[in-house]
Amino acid sequence: MNLVVLGAGESGVGAAILGKQKGYNVFVSDKGEITKKYKKVLLNNEIPFEEGTHSESKIFQADVVMKSPGIPDKVAVIQELIERKIPVISEIEFASKYTKGIIVGITGSNGKTTTTLLVNHILKKANLNVGMGGNIGASFAQQVAENNFDIHVLELSSFQLDGIVNFAPHIAIITNITPDHLDRYNNKFENYINSKFRITENQTENDFLIYDADDEVITNWLKNNKVKATLLPFSLGKELEEGVFLKDNNIQIKYKTEDIIMGITTLALKGKHNTKNAMAAAMTATLLKVRKDTIRESLEDFEGAEHRLESVLKINGVQYINDSKATNVNATFYALDSMKTPTVWIVGGVDKGNDYLDLMPLVREKVKAIICLGVDNHKIVQTFNNVVDLIVETAGAEEAVKVAYKIAEKGDAVLLSPACASFDLFESYEDRGNQFKQAVREL
Ligand code: ADP
Repeated sequence: MNLVVLGAGESGVGAAILGKQKGYNVFVSDKGEITKKYKKVLLNNEIPFEEGTHSESKIFQADVVMKSPGIPDKVAVIQELIERKIPVISEIEFASKYTKGIIVGITGSNGKTTTTLLVNHILKKANLNVGMGGNIGASFAQQVAENNFDIHVLELSSFQLDGIVNFAPHIAIITNITPDHLDRYNNKFENYINSKFRITENQTENDFLIYDADDEVITNWLKNNKVKATLLPFSLGKELEEGVFLKDNNIQIKYKTEDIIMGITTLALKGKHNTKNAMAAAMTATLLKVRKDTIRESLEDFEGAEHRLESVLKINGVQYINDSKATNVNATFYALDSMKTPTVWIVGGVDKGNDYLDLMPLVREKVKAIICLGVDNHKIVQTFNNVVDLIVETAGAEEAVKVAYKIAEKGDAVLLSPACASFDLFESYEDRGNQFKQAVREL
């Protein structure tokens, strides 16, 4: 059997290793340049590859093609494969064929990484044989090839879900759905929503779907579509018949029995959004029979994820917070919502069609100054001109931090939560967050 892998990133190289191990005749093709790290892995595993081109003669001999999530369906080679009726699947689909482990799949527009880390942390503390991967860390395929985990906790992007056929997680989580990546979905929100819900399409009555009951996009979809899995919603606002919710500021689970897991004041991660992530993680762990005390301890001592509401330093009574991963308005909404002190807000970058009006009440209430950090800031300036006294435009992390330092007073916070992608001034959101932190440390 010929397996052609298109794209030699984390998932492509993982699928190639697994394919070789399972006896496929593997060929890897990447139209761009393959990074040194992955080239070395391919060479070490004696897997043939090409870069800078897609050789049609080789690709169209495939019995099955594994497409990396970064490659859109509309590119010529994929269209031709579809015409030739050669199956094109994702690495998630491919890897899932070769494991008997329990799969926890986590998707959503925001909160995937945080929830994945939380679930992994709880299960590890419960001494379960668990591996974390997918869109975070090692690819699922590599995990399956190299380890024998009882449980796989997978962060799944919609692009990864697009290429599934039979993939069925035992426990699926949809954290929330807000518009994102619409360029890959013919600019139709509906297509993107359907893509997220593919996580449940092969689930059976023995499986579970955990989701945000306060998210109308999700609840509307569920009203109009049939799901076989047991539905276990989470809610900050309402007591549920079944699921996980807040009652008297306690996280309470109702499924078969009723249990108070813990109060929210001792949760390690602050902000309403993180309470939701914690509820989803607690529900998952409960289904996997983890003891309540272990869940509570894990949610208390979790150390947080870099670039997500990450406390950097306190200087002269001013707290500096790095939320560089907030690349859309919804994520920034929760960041501003979680601020307890007057805030100097650093925002901007590549706008993905943002509607900033959702942020208006929070900005009025909490933001004392806005520092724009992008090449084109006109929309931000226009939106908040009459709302905030001071708006300053800057062209780099260091400049933004220095300006913030001058403006902020004891008791304030300086929050980098850009609501935008980073590619105008930075290599990635990590680069943006790291430059911010560096600049803060040098103050
Ligand atoms: P993802 O992996 O889906 O991008 P992350 O956990 O990396 O999610 O968080 C991305 C951004 O969204 C961060 O700024 C974080 O503070 C914010 N965020 C985290 N969880 C949620 C949530 N449940 N709802 C909205 N925003 C969230």
